[in-house]
Amino acid sequence: MIILVINCGSSSIKYKLYAVEKDIFLAEGTVEKIGEKQPTHSHKINAKEPVKRKVEAADHHSAMELIINCLIDKESGVIKSIDEISGVGHRVVHGGEEFSTSVLIDEKVIASITKFAKLAPLHNPPALAGIKATRKLLSNKPQVAVFDTAFHQTMPRDAYTYALPYRFYKKYGVRRYGFHGTSHKYVAAKAAKVLSKPAESLKIITCHLGNGCSMAAILNGRSVDTSMGLTPLEGLVMGTRCGDIDPAIVMFLMEREGLDCQQIDDMLNKKSGLLGISEISNDMREILAAAKEGNEQAKLSLEVFYYRIKKYIGAYTAVMNGLDAIVLTAGIGENNPWLKERLEKDLSYILNKFNAKVLVIPTKEEWMIAMETYDIIKKMR
Ligand code: ADP
Repeated sequence: MIILVINCGSSSIKYKLYAVEKDIFLAEGTVEKIGEKQPTHSHKINAKEPVKRKVEAADHHSAMELIINCLIDKESGVIKSIDEISGVGHRVVHGGEEFSTSVLIDEKVIASITKFAKLAPLHNPPALAGIKATRKLLSNKPQVAVFDTAFHQTMPRDAYTYALPYRFYKKYGVRRYGFHGTSHKYVAAKAAKVLSKPAESLKIITCHLGNGCSMAAILNGRSVDTSMGLTPLEGLVMGTRCGDIDPAIVMFLMEREGLDCQQIDDMLNKKSGLLGISEISNDMREILAAAKEGNEQAKLSLEVFYYRIKKYIGAYTAVMNGLDAIVLTAGIGENNPWLKERLEKDLSYILNKFNAKVLVIPTKEEWMIAMETYDIIKKMR
């Protein structure tokens, strides 16, 4: 069965075409700068070099159209016709409290994703644009929504409730939702396999450390806490996001610097984190290089980044009353052996007490989306 996985950003569409039973991807690529002056399309057929070209893509619909044409093209294509595609899996960031699993998309699901755009104004609208385009272009194919928030819907209310006036939860749904759920779910299941134990018997802390970073406490296969909150701003230090801060800092800086809502939002989301402290880069590789040369702010950003992770590990071990494994994944988690070594050294008292391990497991978010889509389509047949 061939499944197309779609991940839409505000000006980009990433796609990956999988032959799921064979466990291989056939092609993948990205259209970037959609709606801007000069959109580009990078397309890669499995085991070949990627090809990049300039394209016309005024909106998500035209970008989607050119992706599908590229997939069935005589030269760049990997399938003969769109009939070979069995279904489409869409990454959707926010599913609110309504979706605790992936679902087949219908008008009702679209209405709900539209409703939750209020909670994820940067993420849900482009996902909707992608869904609408593929529904038109591949009208007879089943489409599945896979939510970043779904896996964390098992959190108990003491973990997801903020100590704010309760009416804001009832009125606007202000609570912790958590994100990166697809990745946390995938690496936790993989960790259980590595440990040769059933997921239902394990206490796992997963650390998704990419540009965005989040951790989750996974008890007996279910997420019981996670570091991101109502939005992906809370929790760990990230490439450009601040993570946990005293909320009073927001009012303090708005007043002192004369910032409006948009400006403070921009500062917390795009100018903070590793970039904010180091004043060099949001990219771990560049920070490591600067720290090696003795740059003090680069060193400090690494210390703060690492300290926050260590602190959450302690908290989540307490939440689960024990620990079997800490899993490191995503760009930073997979490529920085110093992180594993340092955690093993600093947390030896916890690791030894519980006979727990630190594992590095590459995440496969798109693959998970393809599998979730496959499972739903298989049940329909
Ligand atoms: P995204 O959240 O955009 O998917 P990634 O998972 O690709 O991000 O992670 C990006 C981060 O991973 C960057 O900070 C980058 O510096 C870091 N990274 C990627 N490769 C390496 C590497 N070889 N060594 C150190 N850090 C790396």
